[in-house]
Amino acid sequence: MIVMKFGGTSVGDGERIANVAKLVLKEKPPVVVVVSALGGVTDKLVGIANRVVELPTQVVEKEVGIFHREIVLQHRNAALEAVRSKRVVSEVLPKISELADQLKVALLGVGYLEDLSPKSLDYIMSFGERLSSIIVSGALESMGAKSVALTGYEAGVVTDSNFGHARPKPNVMKDAVRQKLMPLLRKGIIPVVTGFVGGDEKGRITTLGRGGSDYSASLIGRYLKVKEVQIWTDVDGILTTDPKMVKHARLIPELSYVEAMDLAYFGAKVIHSKMIEPAMVANIPVRVLNTFNPSCEGTLIVRKQKKVEGIIKAVAITKDVVVMNLQGIGMAETPNIAGRLFSVLGNGNINVIMISGSSESNLSFVIKSKEVKRAIELLAEEFGDGDIRGVGTMEGVSIISVVGAGMQGAKGIAAKVFETVSNANVNIIMIAQGSSEVNIAFAVNEKDAGKALEALHGRFVA
Ligand code: ADP
Ligand code: ASP
Ligand code: MG
Repeated sequence: MIVMKFGGTSVGDGERIANVAKLVLKEKPPVVVVVSALGGVTDKLVGIANRVVELPTQVVEKEVGIFHREIVLQHRNAALEAVRSKRVVSEVLPKISELADQLKVALLGVGYLEDLSPKSLDYIMSFGERLSSIIVSGALESMGAKSVALTGYEAGVVTDSNFGHARPKPNVMKDAVRQKLMPLLRKGIIPVVTGFVGGDEKGRITTLGRGGSDYSASLIGRYLKVKEVQIWTDVDGILTTDPKMVKHARLIPELSYVEAMDLAYFGAKVIHSKMIEPAMVANIPVRVLNTFNPSCEGTLIVRKQKKVEGIIKAVAITKDVVVMNLQGIGMAETPNIAGRLFSVLGNGNINVIMISGSSESNLSFVIKSKEVKRAIELLAEEFGDGDIRGVGTMEGVSIISVVGAGMQGAKGIAAKVFETVSNANVNIIMIAQGSSEVNIAFAVNEKDAGKALEALHGRFVA
């Protein structure tokens, strides 16, 4: 049994969805399919939700109407192309209309109430995957398979109620996923499950965080104890760096779980950073494959990779981050302040990407730019005017990270890395070495990031 997850580009339009259905049907059953929304749809849903909440009441209906027609058209067109049977398409089209109508009601509600809670946003975002799962399932049926579209919740993806970044509930999921999916699989039915979307214990829709369909796939894979989790995307696999940044990026045939996790964490968005853990605990291999070049072997992610090539395997970049600096902390208070700092940010769902050991009076850490405003509010609330002198921010920063298990115990690697960066005339703002010892990460000015990436890639992995 395997799980096959298809990302947004892979299910971007009708023709691509038909191609996805063919790839699924080539596999030996049982197969569970996990899908993302059609490429760009989640962004559109977030965009309209944020727009309607700001609109004057008189134009809400008109704007929502325009959006509704656009969504219906896009998904109807995809269905008409992908679902190649009159009978099946006549079942799929009304389902698309029904979902689009529910979406419209939700958007009107947000617009009139001028209130967009994380709960409402999750509900609105879920329509992307709910629409795509129906079309993919229809395409499979039209090719002669038995298939059913399920929401994550219907497939047993039960989470806490942390809307926007919901965390799975392992104790519930371990039975729920099997109970929901095994009866279908035994009857030869192919479940097509919405990635990214789950539900809390009250059945309210939650999402796992942007890019979270990969995570859905590995969670389902874990609880079904599948042979392999396949992540089908728009590049050949995990490459030595982001091909959009460096042209000569090469495919990495094999990586360890820890390396893949670090790479994803530091910006290789080809896989979601949380997706490795469920596969790792159940020792399930993950394979990253290209929907547009399916004969390529892709990248295999396993516990201990067989082929070790070079010390540094890949270079990743995280853009749009900010270095924050707490100033004026006395040495003696630092541990206590750090503890409070990370709890208050953690409780506010702000992920601290990197921390730098504090000097006598400073503590620096890195977070995503979009979270800075909230972080400052939370810090002001927690520390008031008392414990720290001030919070400095440095915007326009990127994190560069080099990853490779060969670095463990290897001497002089950090020196070579920093020498390369300095020879490229790039100033390093802050450094951190992950405790896993398979990565070295540092922050640079965003305008220098491309240069640093090219130089490191050229010296260590090209
Ligand atoms: P999907 O929609 O299939 O989930 P994503 O857009 O989330 O796909 O991830 C695929 C993209 O990740 C690629 O198109 C590529 O630009 C980017 N990427 C960043 N770093 C890497 C890397 N090291 N290897 C491969 N792709 C990478
Ligand atoms: N559609 C969601 C997103 O764009 C989830 C995913 O694609 O993995 O974030
Ligand atoms: Mg993705």
